[in-house]
Amino acid sequence: MPLNVDLHSHSNQSDGILAPADVAQRAHTNKVDVWALTDHDELTGLDQARLAAHSLGIKFINGVEISALYCNRIIHIVALGFTANDPNLLSALELIRTKRHERAQLINNKLATLGVDNALQGALAHVDNPRLIGRVHFAKYLLELGLCKNFQHAFDKYLGENKAAFVPMESISLEQAVNLILTAGGKAVIAHPGRYKFSRQQFSALFDTFKDLGGQAIEVVTGSHSVAQYDKYARLALKYNFEASRGSDFHAPGIGKIDLGAMPNLPDYLKPVWHDLL
Ligand code: AMP
Ligand code: MN
Ligand code: MN
Ligand code: MN
Repeated sequence: MPLNVDLHSHSNQSDGILAPADVAQRAHTNKVDVWALTDHDELTGLDQARLAAHSLGIKFINGVEISALYCNRIIHIVALGFTANDPNLLSALELIRTKRHERAQLINNKLATLGVDNALQGALAHVDNPRLIGRVHFAKYLLELGLCKNFQHAFDKYLGENKAAFVPMESISLEQAVNLILTAGGKAVIAHPGRYKFSRQQFSALFDTFKDLGGQAIEVVTGSHSVAQYDKYARLALKYNFEASRGSDFHAPGIGKIDLGAMPNLPDYLKPVWHDLL
């Protein structure tokens, strides 16, 4: 049996719901052998996660999902296996979290013009880690107010790209993100490529640029990909000679299509990104 590897997951240190040790417990329950916690732009959960993982016999890989700018849009780069005390990485993540707070104030202002008052305060009530605020925290507040039917609807109506309360976020560039990851001794992985609304040309430019920068892998099997997309990105991994990653993008029980560690395996003709990380 292949190892059950899940290299994309979130805790309450970013926009997930469970504490890092509880995500570890769920990984154990779901028979995960190798796990990475990859909170958005934040490393605070790693020590707790690693400790809990090791006590449960799970191999742990340091992770973070970095928000980076490419073609004026945010894309997500999962970093794996880096040194968690790298000063340049830590200060870049701190800068991104500051940009998140600036964006949150602007989202608050946009929502106010739409008749939703004190949204920042409401969102902050859903934040567990005061260093990190995201759109999910606003979605929870909008749901609490009854302004949307469900979580997804909050993004479709207000928070998603180009919706009524969308505010673009500033961040570091893709080039900066990949350089930071490599310098910290990690591997860079393009997260959920199927989610980006890029043209064919923009996609091939993204893969070429990422390769030139030293990026090593793309996610093939991940929570937001369809079965057809597993196949599509498996073929692209081969074509570009990228290693392949597998991760649920777990945020909370009952949220998202796929539970921690519960996705199909990678096709066995691909080189798994964890090959050199174990
Ligand atoms: P942020 O990093 O604050 O811009 O928020 C991005 C996060 O919001 C993602 O990691 C998901 O957790 C969530 N998200 C983004 N788009 C959607 C969507 N269309 N539906 C549901 N959740 C979403
Ligand atoms: Mn998220
Ligand atoms: Mn993501
Ligand atoms: Mn994620």
